[in-house]
Amino acid sequence: MTDSENPSRTPALHSADDTILPFEVAALDLRGRVVRLGPSVDEILSRHDYPLPVAKLLGEAVTLAALFGSALKFDGRFILQTQTDGPVRMLVVDYATAGRIRACARFDRNRIESALASGQISPGLLLGHGHLAMTIDQGADMSRHQGVVALEGRGLEEAAHEYFRRSEQIPTRVRLAVAEELRAGPDGPRHRWRAGGILLQFLPKSPERMRAADLDPGDAPEGITLPSAAEDEAWMEGRSLVETVEDLELIDPALSTERLVYRLFHERGVRVFDNAQIAARCTCSRETVSAMLRSFPQQDRDDMVEGGTISVTCEFCNETYRFDPAEVSDADGTLN
Ligand SMILES: [Zn+2]
Repeated sequence: MTDSENPSRTPALHSADDTILPFEVAALDLRGRVVRLGPSVDEILSRHDYPLPVAKLLGEAVTLAALFGSALKFDGRFILQTQTDGPVRMLVVDYATAGRIRACARFDRNRIESALASGQISPGLLLGHGHLAMTIDQGADMSRHQGVVALEGRGLEEAAHEYFRRSEQIPTRVRLAVAEELRAGPDGPRHRWRAGGILLQFLPKSPERMRAADLDPGDAPEGITLPSAAEDEAWMEGRSLVETVEDLELIDPALSTERLVYRLFHERGVRVFDNAQIAARCTCSRETVSAMLRSFPQQDRDDMVEGGTISVTCEFCNETYRFDPAEVSDADGTLN
């Protein structure tokens, strides 16, 4: 047994930011992961000039995608995308193994300003109605798997529970937290984004216990209370422990991931596994943008010329690429 597998080991004082720690509570048939994001989420959110509530919501989506994407057992991508009618029309997070992540949002600035003025900035209200799609892409020759769940004025946490219950039949609880902290820097104090999340799943060997755990009191018709004894006690215990996790515990740099997991589950014996890294990285390059431009009809490229150049800004990382029109025209002949 290695040190990281020893359930009784003393939790480390500090675990690094931008890591994901998988864990298991065998006595309760629970498995989970904790993600802590520092520089990665700060880089993703700081590259955009999004209004605060939009940045915070995108930070939640990044955290959720990191929790889901890190479960991929093969090389591929996990893409989380919302499409809704609220002030935040779209969120996209693209997670590629091993741990490269990029993200962007589309929103209506006027509607965000009115939402801010009236204090209507909960994730559910910002998103509105529509859907959340999660796509697993294993590469060109492999199948794509997509699961979709309705967003009906609910936030991402609730949508994730619903997705796992309906699509995967796995009782799941997720907590997400995003906040800005004030940090001293060489040019004086500046705000830095931090995020954290925990995912817990109930994976018992017997299907009967799974069914008992799946009986969500929320499913009962109005006015009827489902008997709580029908719920699996191990899942009830795990679920309530995760629901008590405070936002601050998920983002506090002074509380290590190991210590958080230990604090929650030490009475039952918790085993942690090797952690994995997360980094903010975009896949765009001058070459990929140039190839994309060359694939357009000449007329479209002509329409893009402004002040003698064609500028393309990557929506994910906000990097702007400038081209001389001749450089990407058909006449250049590199591609054709
Ligand atoms: Zn980019």
